[in-house]
Amino acid sequence: MQATTTLSARSLHYLELEEKYGAHNYHPIPVVLDRGAGVHVWDIDGRRYYDCLSGYSAVNQGHCHPRIVAALQEQAARLTLTSRAFHSDLLGEYARYITEYFGYDKVLPMNTGVEAVETALKLCRRWAYQVKGVSADKALIVVCSGNFHGRTTTAISFSTDPDSNRDFGPYTPGFLVIPYNDSAALARALADPNVAGFLVEPIQGEAGVIVPDEGYLHIAKRLCEAANVLFIGDEIQTGLGRTGRLLACDHESVRPDILILGKALSGGMLPVSAVLADDPIMLTIRPGEHGSTYGGNPLACKVAMAALDVLKQERLAENAAVLGELFRKEVRNLHSPYIALVRGKGLLNAIVIAHPRPDAAWELCLALKENGLLAKPTHGDKIRLAPPLVITREQLLECVEIVRTSLAVLEKH
Ligand code: PLP
Repeated sequence: MQATTTLSARSLHYLELEEKYGAHNYHPIPVVLDRGAGVHVWDIDGRRYYDCLSGYSAVNQGHCHPRIVAALQEQAARLTLTSRAFHSDLLGEYARYITEYFGYDKVLPMNTGVEAVETALKLCRRWAYQVKGVSADKALIVVCSGNFHGRTTTAISFSTDPDSNRDFGPYTPGFLVIPYNDSAALARALADPNVAGFLVEPIQGEAGVIVPDEGYLHIAKRLCEAANVLFIGDEIQTGLGRTGRLLACDHESVRPDILILGKALSGGMLPVSAVLADDPIMLTIRPGEHGSTYGGNPLACKVAMAALDVLKQERLAENAAVLGELFRKEVRNLHSPYIALVRGKGLLNAIVIAHPRPDAAWELCLALKENGLLAKPTHGDKIRLAPPLVITREQLLECVEIVRTSLAVLEKH
């Protein structure tokens, strides 16, 4: 067991390359990966690890899923990009597939998650002016403290995390921040007739897997309906089986007016995101008013259909529900004095570390790495544990065993 990490000369070489030539906007766990399959990744020295981050939940279907790879390879050799200046034989098929899959009239395809968030915000504002009747430039969108919706100037404008927005101002106006998991605060905010939307993560992933009280989403949706305000569900991290249902909102039978998807929509192959809504909202944006060069490209369409198909065929949401319960039970049964809390839903979980050393979570992650499991702390003392949803019961129990062994590192003084 080691609190520090062992690194080969080759690994150090790659770390140094990144350090010297790459911007310093991340602080990765010191491991250099070159291969992945299912729940595992391998470093350049051939050591195998459980991937308990899953590319921040982009790899729900497991690394390099053969059916998604096949779709990618086949389409990559045929046609990858037309731009939206022309039609392709896949965009319409994909649009029908994804709208039927989630039960919406229309889809607007984008690439990264935050682009889909931006799209949802623009749609919401459009709807406010053209349907709800809010006066020009007065629309407000309610968001929650602790939110994470991405890194664009607008998304960080309403972030409450100083690391995200310090010295990046001036900020985009038009957002009202209320506490998360507080329906009374939402009710008060909705009293303003200029409020057009409520943007919410069903579980706050980046904040450390904050699960709101049961009923919160349901009440929030009711309040939005009563106030003629759009409920905008950011399911970029929580969606696509991760929490044990297709969408985390499904746990409370909530259907967002605008649904935002990303990450696992491509099974980790390429950036694919989507905004889904019904016609009265979606058709407020007309030709030439929004778009993206890569949005809806044939390669993305083909890969997304394969990725969605795998979720259903392999019943990954069901697996996440069952194994998530088991995971939380087994971690609680460790009775470690260093685990203050384990929380989550399905296979989106976090452990909260209790230890006098402020970098204890980081130390534990290094020990986990030494023992064959990759995870990363978020906000200091929380470690998110979110393996690919293809994980088996035996593999999950092995992960818990690695956590148990690794906790010994925190006993050292
Ligand atoms: N929204 C949520 C809830 C997220 O978790 C993330 C990424 O972690 C984003 C938006 C941004 O997605 P992307 O990094 O693909 O822009």
